[in-house]
Amino acid sequence: MDKECRFNGTGISNGKVSGKIRFLDEKERLKTEDTVTDKNVELKRFKEAQKTAVSEVKELAEKTRLTLGQDEAEIFDIHAMLLQDEDFIEEIIKRIEGGEGAAKATELVAKAQADLLLSLNDEYLSARATDIKDISGQIIRILVGDVDENQRNDCEPYILVAPDLTPSQTVSLDKERILGFVTFGGTPSSHTAILARAMGIPALVGTGAIDKSLNGAFALLNAENGTLVVSPSKDEIAEFERKRGEYNKIAKEHESYLRSVMNKPAVTGSGHKVMVYANIGDESEVAPALSNGAEGIGLLRSEFLYISQNDYPGEEELFESYRDVAIKMQGKRVIVRTLDVGADKQIPYFNIPREENPALGYRGIRVCLDRIETFKSQLRAILRASYFGRVALMLPMIVSAEEIKRTKALLEECKRELSTRGEKFDSQIELGIMIETPASAVMSEELAPLVDFFSVGTNDLAQYTLAADRQNAMVSKICEKNVEPVMRLIKMSADAIHQKGGWIGVCGEMAADLSLTQRFVDMEIDELSVSVPYLLGVRGKISECR
Ligand code: PEP
Ligand code: MG
Repeated sequence: MDKECRFNGTGISNGKVSGKIRFLDEKERLKTEDTVTDKNVELKRFKEAQKTAVSEVKELAEKTRLTLGQDEAEIFDIHAMLLQDEDFIEEIIKRIEGGEGAAKATELVAKAQADLLLSLNDEYLSARATDIKDISGQIIRILVGDVDENQRNDCEPYILVAPDLTPSQTVSLDKERILGFVTFGGTPSSHTAILARAMGIPALVGTGAIDKSLNGAFALLNAENGTLVVSPSKDEIAEFERKRGEYNKIAKEHESYLRSVMNKPAVTGSGHKVMVYANIGDESEVAPALSNGAEGIGLLRSEFLYISQNDYPGEEELFESYRDVAIKMQGKRVIVRTLDVGADKQIPYFNIPREENPALGYRGIRVCLDRIETFKSQLRAILRASYFGRVALMLPMIVSAEEIKRTKALLEECKRELSTRGEKFDSQIELGIMIETPASAVMSEELAPLVDFFSVGTNDLAQYTLAADRQNAMVSKICEKNVEPVMRLIKMSADAIHQKGGWIGVCGEMAADLSLTQRFVDMEIDELSVSVPYLLGVRGKISECR
């Protein structure tokens, strides 16, 4: 395939990279050697996986139709048809009845059909063979679970292309081997995007479907202007390289400007000091945060430690990881946000039932206050880490005073347990809540006396205020265009907490939006917490504010 193809999406982090594109190739690494215990169980598993695959593909077709158009959506219409093809299904059922496992049977039937189509040497039928491999991969993925992209050791660094990446897949990408990534779906405020920014991986989301026949083609990924050009012309490559050179030069100059602001305090012209903190997912981001001038950690997204494991981490493991962050931050404040599982951050071993509207469902503090032992083990770990630095605790998804009061009671219980065990901790540990639901902003006057600080999670606050799913590319523009309602809720919360003598930060993606910095300063926001790559830019902007 050497005809140039161009895809437009939204660049979610900076950078320009070139290299071969490789699709997230689940088939290569899926373990289909399943042991069969019961034919009926395998049959049931297959039928359920086939049904799920059909509904996932239909959904993708609809999304593609709305965002891109009919032609592109047809790729997925065909996939949905193939997934329901009676011969295909019957062949698989026969194999399962003959003793094969569901995944293995799917793999073998797909391979036989694809080989047959390929042997006919017809361009159209060869494309259908690719489709069959694709849909069988989908069923197998559902049967055996997600795969780890990092197990692919067989090629040079490449640009990863996938329909979508989950936060756990993104977080485990190996930066040595992934030059950048492109996803058909996704939005700039999704967790996948947040992680990509934090990881400094050039990425493009919301391109719509990309045909798998392009696998292996050379491409130019420009996360600045949101394009992916596959099989570019020589002129196009030359122009890209020229721009990349220019970009690197400007980035270098900008860097020296940014370095110059690093040692100056982030204070406005009128003397308002804004603390500039970093959002991190784990301890590995502490060193880059410090070298980029972070004055503290404004958001440690503690769920990522749970996401990267196959079972609940114990108190000891949690403690060690928080303690290491606290020590490395050398007395600077570290705000550990308690577990925010649910919505788009599903953790399989939590066994959260499938929900119609997960973002409006069982997530964050709601889960923690139901699963008290899991929550308490995290609270004890945070308390113990507080002895080693300046640790604060922050609760996500608060909508009522009752949730704060219940957590405080649990915190007191944990303190008593630790004292009995002879463990040391900061008995005055600061407690804050995230303002990320409209309810918490509207009730901020009532909530403020219960806590030391607020931190505004604008990603969720915008999603819930504007009724626009942060995961849905079709409505992401609504959040970009309508900051005003969110700003008013932030102002309301800032006034409420200041009146009670507390402080307020902003830690959602809006904190890094330099067009809003002056307005945050005007509201006397005390802290802005952003991903590491944005730290210096925000510091510089604050010093330019009135
Ligand atoms: C937010 O909602 O703005 C936030 C910072 O939390 P998260 O992005 O992890 O949901
Ligand atoms: Mg949030």
